[in-house]
Amino acid sequence: MNWMHDRDYKIIDFDNERALLFLTGNHRVFVVDAELGARLRKDIGVMTRDEDQEWSALEAAGYLRNANTPLLSRSRYADGSNLAINVNLTGSCNLACTYCFADGGDYGRIRNAMDHHTVEFIFNFIRDHVSNSQVVRFEFFGGEPLLNFVRIREICDRERSFTEETGVQFIHRISTNLTVLPAETLPLFRSRNFIVSVSIDGGSTTHDQNRPTKRGEGSFAKILENCRLVRAAGEDITLVARMTVVSERPSLLENVRDLWSYNLFDYFQIYPGVTPANGSSFAQSCGGGLVQLGQSQPALSAPAPATMHSGFLVQLSELLDEYPNLFQEGNRFRGVLEYERIAEMALSGKMAIAFCSAGSTYFTVSPDDSVMPCHRLVGHPEFQVHDTGTGLDEWTLPVDKHLVCSTCWARYMCGGGCRQENFVATGTLRGLNEESCNYQRKLVEGVVRTVARAGESYRAMPRRLDDLFVSCGRPVVGNAREADERAPIPAHRHFRPLFTSSQNHC
Ligand code: SF4
Ligand code: SF4
Repeated sequence: MNWMHDRDYKIIDFDNERALLFLTGNHRVFVVDAELGARLRKDIGVMTRDEDQEWSALEAAGYLRNANTPLLSRSRYADGSNLAINVNLTGSCNLACTYCFADGGDYGRIRNAMDHHTVEFIFNFIRDHVSNSQVVRFEFFGGEPLLNFVRIREICDRERSFTEETGVQFIHRISTNLTVLPAETLPLFRSRNFIVSVSIDGGSTTHDQNRPTKRGEGSFAKILENCRLVRAAGEDITLVARMTVVSERPSLLENVRDLWSYNLFDYFQIYPGVTPANGSSFAQSCGGGLVQLGQSQPALSAPAPATMHSGFLVQLSELLDEYPNLFQEGNRFRGVLEYERIAEMALSGKMAIAFCSAGSTYFTVSPDDSVMPCHRLVGHPEFQVHDTGTGLDEWTLPVDKHLVCSTCWARYMCGGGCRQENFVATGTLRGLNEESCNYQRKLVEGVVRTVARAGESYRAMPRRLDDLFVSCGRPVVGNAREADERAPIPAHRHFRPLFTSSQNHC
């Protein structure tokens, strides 16, 4: 094989003495001396005889084989994701977030709340599109979905007879600002083991600045009070703090520590907000990438191109340095979802079939009975799905068929980028948003470095992420790289594997 840096492997800076060698084809990580890493960055052909012999022995033993490329070519989204229905319950919202992509909840188009008749439409859609797993996840979304609690209740009530009839099981997740808690909400959350994703950007200073009420008042105190009620309602409710980062003070690390200290949240999700270059308004990130809120038109027609907050990558790095220390006995914190997904792919040998499952196993249904591949493109009728069997090629083209992605070292972690961000940046779904790419690659580098630095207890931690809808349901499958191992790993002096066992060498 003609190995090429930045395509088939990536050298990741680690410390003064060591670097990390990440293999694109199977997500294995080796620790190498920094000096060898510097040479490998130029060319794999610059190895000494001793290094070359060790490399050849690893190759012969099957540790370098590319498991990901053939796996992608034979995989379908349904192999790594369940059918997910994003239920766009209402165009109303009671907050006035500085960066809202939904134009205050209604996407500039859908102003009414979901009515009774759409419930049957949703179940008919499920009947037609449920995958072999026979599991369907509901994503209750808006606007603020709890402002239409009656419809959430109706959908959950309808499930029972549907399950009896079809055998389909349901997972429930809600994206809410949690400023309201209608009667019966907590018992419903408890009875269905809801995953409650709360939009909360940090401590009160940051949160109240980003997410005021429509009267300009802070919302933090009310949300925290309701988080406590949700937490007290049941241990099996999963509470997720969903943070959008649009400023540097207080820092991301301070804001995470602030929320962490309440010991309420099982997981965090952290997305970089996006600001137009002229600073006039904010946008937000989602799906594991940048989210461009208040900007759903292509950048070509926007007054100024959107850009990630300039200090975000520095803040990300600062957080990742501290990240392993957040796992402490006595605190229920189980990780940042996107980071844990990347860690899992490296440690357990998994790969992403796509960036998200939009257009294949993920759809958004709105009060007007429209079906969209992506919740952020509600309000763009040109993307409406009329027949999920056709017209979705641009959404589901695999990463190896994309001219640029197919040569990117991070492609089987990333899966090919957020189509909506591409659309905003370039006017097409497949024209890459360079800033999103840069963020995705920095994220993978940062998490792999963190995995290498963390102790064995962090690496060996069980990760059960499949039901949590990480990165808009990024479909992920195991690459079975162990099956390629034809012999025990050979003696290693130059290429020291990063194991999840006591053989770890970091
Ligand atoms: S979207 Fe960007 S980061 Fe992701 S695989 Fe493609 S080129 Fe790589
Ligand atoms: S294109 Fe996919 S990742 Fe991007 S916002 Fe839509 S569903 Fe999420």
